[in-house]
Amino acid sequence: MKQPVFVAAALLLWSFPIFTQTFEEIPPGGGGAFHPEPTVCLTDAQRTAIAAMLVENEARLRSQRLIAPDDANGTVAFDWPIKNDPGLGSSWKNTIMIANYVDQQAATGILDYNCGTRSYDGHKGTDISLWPFGWHLKNNNFVQVVAAEAGIIIGKQDGNSDENCVWNNQDWNAVYVRHSDGSVAWYGHMKKNSLTNKAIGTSVAKGEYLGVVASSGISTGPHLHFEVYKQQPYLVSNLIDPYNGTCNNMNPGVSWWANQEPYRKPTLNAALTHNTPPEHGCPTENEIPHFSNQFAPGNQLVYTAVYFRDQMQGQTTSMRILRPNGTIWNSWIHTSPQTYSGSWWWWSWALPSGGPFGTWSFEATFDGQTIVHPFEYGNLVSTNSGNDSPALTLAPNPANGAFRLLSTEQIELEIEVFNGMGRLVFSGKTRTGQEITLGELAAGVYAVRVTAGSHVRHYRLVLE
Ligand SMILES: [Zn+2]
Repeated sequence: MKQPVFVAAALLLWSFPIFTQTFEEIPPGGGGAFHPEPTVCLTDAQRTAIAAMLVENEARLRSQRLIAPDDANGTVAFDWPIKNDPGLGSSWKNTIMIANYVDQQAATGILDYNCGTRSYDGHKGTDISLWPFGWHLKNNNFVQVVAAEAGIIIGKQDGNSDENCVWNNQDWNAVYVRHSDGSVAWYGHMKKNSLTNKAIGTSVAKGEYLGVVASSGISTGPHLHFEVYKQQPYLVSNLIDPYNGTCNNMNPGVSWWANQEPYRKPTLNAALTHNTPPEHGCPTENEIPHFSNQFAPGNQLVYTAVYFRDQMQGQTTSMRILRPNGTIWNSWIHTSPQTYSGSWWWWSWALPSGGPFGTWSFEATFDGQTIVHPFEYGNLVSTNSGNDSPALTLAPNPANGAFRLLSTEQIELEIEVFNGMGRLVFSGKTRTGQEITLGELAAGVYAVRVTAGSHVRHYRLVLE
């Protein structure tokens, strides 16, 4: 008697959301796994040279009393060594995936701390790779390396090319920090001339800037190689794997993280729009993001894309495209066919040619995380109509560094200018007729958003 009642209740619960939202599975137009080609990060010869340099520096600093003679009682609890620049914007929640953990297997073979194989043979550090668009992130200094623990800088290497895509024997750019307990962290592959200007022998605080994530040295894409020794000499017998797990034989039962992240951390890194399917770089091609946040009616398709760290098999992502008034134009789901360390998927859409025009949004929800990515749809020349707000003209257009918003009446305006990648390059308050000087912006097409009270207008501005 009880069982049928339960079944009916379960059916009701299951069917309820179907009436409120569409859960149609739409296969992506493309995408899949992202994983940088593994490289050794450092050759044995490079590691030997670095070790000799650090031993020499440490002896000198000790004689100069810049390192305390008895400092073996300190403790180390690493914070995450990666920090995102706020300029990245809200369409990005995360910028990394774990490409490789430390290889615990002394002999030939691969074993990570969690008894998996997310490493390569002989890897002595943790590789934290930028994802997606590592070259875009690197070029814009969007992802910083920060000190995981406070300490003294005992070595720096800089001046080496940071755009490596394939195996080579070049040296990297790196900072080496000795902690109060005598352990040392190596931060490698950083951007040329991005290193902290603090000198060797100077202290750095936990979380302090060390440099920008890039691809110097033996590297196939922008990533941080984070390698830790509990003390000198810099031999495998002193190597630490900061992660605590069943197969960590280096420092069993001890995590060096203040708050260790899980082995897999499902994360929606970014939700973006493009005007062509993006091309991810290395080793065979250069990265071409094809970012676009402005679309005109006509033949142009809108490409919506989602990017993940640790997307697990069977995990669903629900996505929707909203009209300017917030109603859903389309919604769909994606189910991950596999487990990936890094992954991405895209879909393309033809928006209705008659509009509505204005600020649309692409939204994605994954594992309780939602990203809202706004984009502009319309002819962008002037979308004003009706008598509810004063007409504005943007002049001159094309402009040469300065322009005015003209109107029949004097009103206060808020103005925002976005470049072709959708990045805010200017914002400020103005009045109609007042000159707006943009400064040194590259020639090209910009989107101008003007807010007058509750009215928002979009314009296309050409800078010469
Ligand atoms: Zn590495």
